[in-house]
Amino acid sequence: MSNVRVGLVGIGAQTQENLLPSLLQTPDIHVAAACDGVAERARLVHRHIKDVELYDDIAKMLTDTKLDALVVACPPQAHRDIATLAMSRGVHVFVEKPPCFTLEELLSLTELSRKSGLVTGVGMNFRFARPIQHLRLIRSEPHFGRTAHIQLNHYANKPRAPMWGLDSTLRSFLLAQAIHTIDLAMLFGGDVKETRSEVQNDNGSLIVEINISFKNGATASILTGTMFPYFEFEMKLISDTSTMVRLDNLSDITLHEPDHVTRAGGNDKRWRGYWRPGPLDSGYVRSGYQSELQSFFDAIRTGGKFEADFANLIPTYEVIEQVCEKGDRLAADVAIDALNLLQGHKPDLQASDLGQ
Ligand code: NAD
Repeated sequence: MSNVRVGLVGIGAQTQENLLPSLLQTPDIHVAAACDGVAERARLVHRHIKDVELYDDIAKMLTDTKLDALVVACPPQAHRDIATLAMSRGVHVFVEKPPCFTLEELLSLTELSRKSGLVTGVGMNFRFARPIQHLRLIRSEPHFGRTAHIQLNHYANKPRAPMWGLDSTLRSFLLAQAIHTIDLAMLFGGDVKETRSEVQNDNGSLIVEINISFKNGATASILTGTMFPYFEFEMKLISDTSTMVRLDNLSDITLHEPDHVTRAGGNDKRWRGYWRPGPLDSGYVRSGYQSELQSFFDAIRTGGKFEADFANLIPTYEVIEQVCEKGDRLAADVAIDALNLLQGHKPDLQASDLGQ
């Protein structure tokens, strides 16, 4: 298959600002149809490309237009339902993150994709971003050694209220934001042995600490939440050769090594090297949007597998479920304490009395 016929679904901010511009830079792609539940949003696609059929109903689009793949950026419940429908019609599907609300839903999607043999993908663009690709390269060099620890600080200031019709701010935050950070811990860590977490929840303002042990002996610690003044992202990889790589704000990389030998500088101790994306790197390549889509379409053409497919996200959702369970127990404890206080410290109130 040379030209992949693509249908876009959900012509909101993410499609207009990132996915459609990235698709326009991707060779051998033909955007044949576009769909949004709000008809005038679908029409916005004509600003960029004229020869596109427009729809306000996904089932009709799939019936009327021959498509190889969908690229979907809607709320998660629509991702889940549209991916299910697309797979039942034999159409490959890429959905933005999050693909669904729960681990159980992800397992159903994974089972459908396994049975259909279609290529699936989730928009985990952090792992395709240029600086993360560079970290992956550094990590693959033999002298880097074994990854011993991954430290991730993902500071955010939203959401502080539930999104997408969910009743939990914690789950909304994990699915909307921390999913990228947990996914990076999985990417650099490997198979999970154990996850521990602590949640502070001050009226939707969250501090979330997650500690993960991996089967290969590595560990990861994630500090995240919405109790921060603004978005910042820091990451460190530490190896058993005492090498430390630091990534600041998904841009600048500093490599710290105890010893370093170069032809120009000779043998040096306490060496630091710097890397940053080139000034001419296109924004969509740098942020990973273009590379993830390119790689998804390559998998369709070659009959291969896209690395961030539904199955690949399962360990990330297992961590999300663990954190939510811990956070919900905390919320129930806080509610019980408050009720006991109101009732004059009656000691025998249980979580089940609150329907938790
Ligand atoms: P948005 O609200 O601006 O757009 C969503 C669009 O989907 C709307 O136009 C809505 O009418 C349409 N829609 C909803 N249900 C539909 C259905 N069943 N059929 C057809 N159209 C439907 O939202 P957004 O900011 O564009 O975000 C969309 C998704 O992209 C979210 O899941 C978000 O988490 C994700 N996103 C990812 C990143 C990233 O870094 N990877 C960044 C931003 C947003």
